[in-house]
Amino acid sequence: MSLVTKIMIGLILGVIVGLLFVSNPKIANTYIKPFGTLFLNLIKMTIVPLVFASLVVGAASIGDIKKLGRIGGKTMLYFFVTTAFAIVIGLVAANIFKPGVNVSLAAAAAQEVTEAPSIIQTFLDIIPTNPIDAMAKGNMLQIIFFALFTGVGATYIGEKGQPYLKFCDSLAEIMYKITEIIMDLAPYGVFALIVPVIASNGPKVLLPLIKVILVCYVAFFLHALLTYSVSVKIWSKISPMKFFKGASPASAIAFSTSSSSGTLPVSMRIVQQVFGVSESIASFVLPLGTTINMDGTAIYQGVCAVFIAQAYGIPLSIGQQVTILLTATLASVGTAGVPGAGFMMLMMVLSSVGLPLEGAALIAGIDRILDMGRTTVNVTGNIAASIVVAATEGEINYENASIMGSGKDKSLKA
Ligand code: ASP
Repeated sequence: MSLVTKIMIGLILGVIVGLLFVSNPKIANTYIKPFGTLFLNLIKMTIVPLVFASLVVGAASIGDIKKLGRIGGKTMLYFFVTTAFAIVIGLVAANIFKPGVNVSLAAAAAQEVTEAPSIIQTFLDIIPTNPIDAMAKGNMLQIIFFALFTGVGATYIGEKGQPYLKFCDSLAEIMYKITEIIMDLAPYGVFALIVPVIASNGPKVLLPLIKVILVCYVAFFLHALLTYSVSVKIWSKISPMKFFKGASPASAIAFSTSSSSGTLPVSMRIVQQVFGVSESIASFVLPLGTTINMDGTAIYQGVCAVFIAQAYGIPLSIGQQVTILLTATLASVGTAGVPGAGFMMLMMVLSSVGLPLEGAALIAGIDRILDMGRTTVNVTGNIAASIVVAATEGEINYENASIMGSGKDKSLKA
């Protein structure tokens, strides 16, 4: 049985067992959840060394700053365009299906607004004044910046830079191997992660707001189908079926953990091994995307804003919806790849168009269920981005891609 099949079985069994524990979620939380946390912590352990080491090697193999700049430009363009598409799909879906009409309002709860940091500060924060501190705190943008710089620096000094690059290469390989070993536990990990979520978010929580959940998931599917699989098909030789199948181990981990940064090591392995993307592109696009490219979160913010407006009977003008588009784009950039981060940013979107923040209280109860879907979209979107950018740079080696029926190393084969 392939790993993907096993993970899917773990996921489905987890949902079933979770439903059995709905009346007593405490048991699931006490006895099953720790195994999920164990699995997630194992993956997280590899993130910082993996991102750092593979990006140093990647930057060194790209070599010149001009090419690095070009790849960076393409990546940002893809991120920006797909995020705009995502919000438009979310807004259109919410306007058509009107999930908030006839919703009885829940009791208001006080919520705090997260202030968006200023653009200048955001740019300044990318430069780590102390790289070790950046690594200790897992600050992804700062790690990316430092890794790129040392990688380029090492190529410039030639011979003397070689030991450093060799060390980083070896470290990255070790982390990849560890990720693979941990992935053998994925079916159990996914099971243990999903049981407590379903047990504590049973039908009682879901049913009253089933419409908004459905609208979000419809928009998630449409975006994945229309934007990701189509763009992958246009630029690479990978068909939509192969794309979704190949990405599925990462999608399943994203769905069960609600953390795109926790899924990062798995995505890094998959794009190289399953889709044949070069290490230099994978190590650049994926960590960056995990930090700033969150289409699922953007869709969710668009749908929820319209939903809350409808629930309160506040009409939203086209101008206000454009404001939502802009703030949700910024909000999704600022969202961290951890569970529930998008919910905090939702407050910012709501306040940008003067919607009542208490409206978020309606969403709070179902947020985890929405988080699972949006994280899956976030992760899938970054996999698509790395394939598209690699394809335009001629950096996909189809011979090495297990999804194309070739490739030597098949441990993560779909
Ligand atoms: N949990 C999401 C992620 O990790 C972020 C969010 O809450 O929207 O991608």
